Amino acid sequence: MSNTLAETRPYGLAGQDWVSPLEDFANLGDTLDDLHRFKRKHPCFWPVGVLKPTAERPLFLGLSDELHPLVIDMRNLLREFWRGNRDASITQVLLGLNTDLFDYKFFGRTAPPLSRMVSDAALAALKGLNVKNEDIDRTQVVPDERTGGFRLVSINWFPWAVYDLFRASWRARICARCSRYFVADRPPQLYCSTKCSGSAKSARSKKWWREDGNKWRRKQKAKRKPRAKEGTSAKTKER
Ligand SMILES: [Zn+2]
Repeated sequence: MSNTLAETRPYGLAGQDWVSPLEDFANLGDTLDDLHRFKRKHPCFWPVGVLKPTAERPLFLGLSDELHPLVIDMRNLLREFWRGNRDASITQVLLGLNTDLFDYKFFGRTAPPLSRMVSDAALAALKGLNVKNEDIDRTQVVPDERTGGFRLVSINWFPWAVYDLFRASWRARICARCSRYFVADRPPQLYCSTKCSGSAKSARSKKWWREDGNKWRRKQKAKRKPRAKEGTSAKTKER
């Protein structure tokens, strides 16, 4: 795959840089405050690259208050993907390869199955800002003369992050302790952090002491007793 699909990444996005913003986005809460916190931390991580040209400078609206419903729709789609739904139409939207379904002129009027991925509230928000389909950054797949393969082109970070997760989808995990969406480093990793693995371990040992601890203590006591008659009490208790 990597030798046929070259990559043109936006400046600054390399290696594992995508992990933390993508995790934070999957775990984004429902409120505007949550959105503001996310935006302060990852100002250029727009789930949909909406660019409105103005007289002074282009405005990036992907994390704007107005488009909050769209942000939430994209978060929900990402969660679907994270939970293992590999429906190609969802992945296409997350990768920025399909932006047609943000077209409120079309999807606002009709209700084909695809439009269920984008809520009426999100379509109304796009309409309210008069965002045209050409204002939305669409990931391109272009022929690459050098390799004879294809090249992905996107100025937006989000599709690249999804792309990296898509190629290593085993890494998309949900913490067995706190239910946080996280990107695993190793296949056996079940918990999002050392805090969660630590508290899971102590919960397991508490449970053990509660359920099996008494048996174990009795067994230990029996072991300490001098073996009066070989093969009787101590051995039978061990079972
Ligand atoms: Zn956790």
